[in-house]
Amino acid sequence: MAHTYDVAVVGGGPAGSTCAAFCAESGLKTLLLEKAIFPREKVCGDCLNPGCRPILDRLGLTEGVLTLPHSKLAEVEFIGLRGQSAKFALNANEHGEIAVKRSQFDHLLLQHAGECGAEIRQNAAVTSIERGWRIRVGDECISAKKVVAADGRNSTVARLLGLLPSSKKDRVALQTHLPLPRDFGNRVVLRFLPDGYCGMSSVGNDQLNLCLVGKPHHIDALKKWAEAQFAIAPDHSWRTITPLARRAIAPAHENLFFIGDAARVVEPFTGEGIYYALASGELAARHLIAHSPPADYAREHALLYRDRLWVNEIAKRAVMQPRLGSLTLDLLRLNPAVLRFLTGKIVGNALR
Ligand SMILES: Cc1cc2nc3c(=O)[nH]c(=O)nc-3n(C[C@H](O)[C@H](O)[C@H](O)COP(=O)(O)OP(=O)(O)OC[C@H]3O[C@@H](n4cnc5c(N)ncnc54)[C@H](O)[C@@H]3O)c2cc1C
Repeated sequence: MAHTYDVAVVGGGPAGSTCAAFCAESGLKTLLLEKAIFPREKVCGDCLNPGCRPILDRLGLTEGVLTLPHSKLAEVEFIGLRGQSAKFALNANEHGEIAVKRSQFDHLLLQHAGECGAEIRQNAAVTSIERGWRIRVGDECISAKKVVAADGRNSTVARLLGLLPSSKKDRVALQTHLPLPRDFGNRVVLRFLPDGYCGMSSVGNDQLNLCLVGKPHHIDALKKWAEAQFAIAPDHSWRTITPLARRAIAPAHENLFFIGDAARVVEPFTGEGIYYALASGELAARHLIAHSPPADYAREHALLYRDRLWVNEIAKRAVMQPRLGSLTLDLLRLNPAVLRFLTGKIVGNALR
């Protein structure tokens, strides 16, 4: 007879792998279901916020991450519509902000969850779920006492349970890796464009991560801008994702936890999504291991975001209206201490 898992984690991104690793390590019979086959790339700026470091330490993965090809980012630059810019130096060391390809970072985390004792199934898309819990993957029906939805911003678990908020007409992101332009250096650049914004960061010594974000009807214009700027062929294939923002989902339900983007999506401009994925994955694992009431996880999940979600909200307002965002940059350039404070709220000690 098929056995029942203590925990079934749906999605093997940073949130799911972190949660599965801690659950399995504590002795819970843990299954992780991932629809893709790793390594796989992902629409992301590839930047790891310094807040990830203590969680990677607790996972025992810091050294592993630092052996992957990565950039230690030495500068963050904001560029307005007229080319006006504000720059801040970052501490370019392993405690600072680094950039690493998601294919490699996510694969390392997934493998680690397996090494901690989680059963990992790839190429295993969840297609139906019934309370109780009975989860369908292909022809197989899997039983679990608790489910963790870690399946990203378009969470299938949330959709199947009627919990996914509508996000019609939201913005679209395009992402690609390109050869690193000469003289780009180890930095992250956030640039307002008339039709959206663009994020660029060096990844390793030889790659540039390029993200474009805009409304669906502006995406072609953004792409044309990037093609001219970086000599990209018109038939270049971009990765794409939508929505960029949507309402949050209550993170705790009876025997059901939402973590990472599945629970709450933050504006990518500040490059914090992976941090929240790791942190909420670890938090959910702690509550699963302790069998605490759902309300306890919900309360601590809210606290996780409380300190700096407001900075992310400001960033979101700025990028939703690039002209206004660029004007705000003008004002902040007159008063750099404010922009420095806001940047420091996000990157913490990495700011020099
Ligand atoms: C343009 C852009 C730039 C960004 N830049 C940054 C950045 O520089 N730094 C940063 O920290 N964050 C950034 N983010 C945010 C970051 O990418 C996310 O916050 C992060 O990936 C969330 O991790 P997660 O594990 O919650 O979800 P995901 O990484 O989305 O992982 C979800 C996993 O679930 C799997 N899955 C989905 N459906 C199913 C199913 N039905 N069955 C089984 N598995 C399923 C998927 O295949 C995927 O592997 C950016 C986002 C965007 C859009």
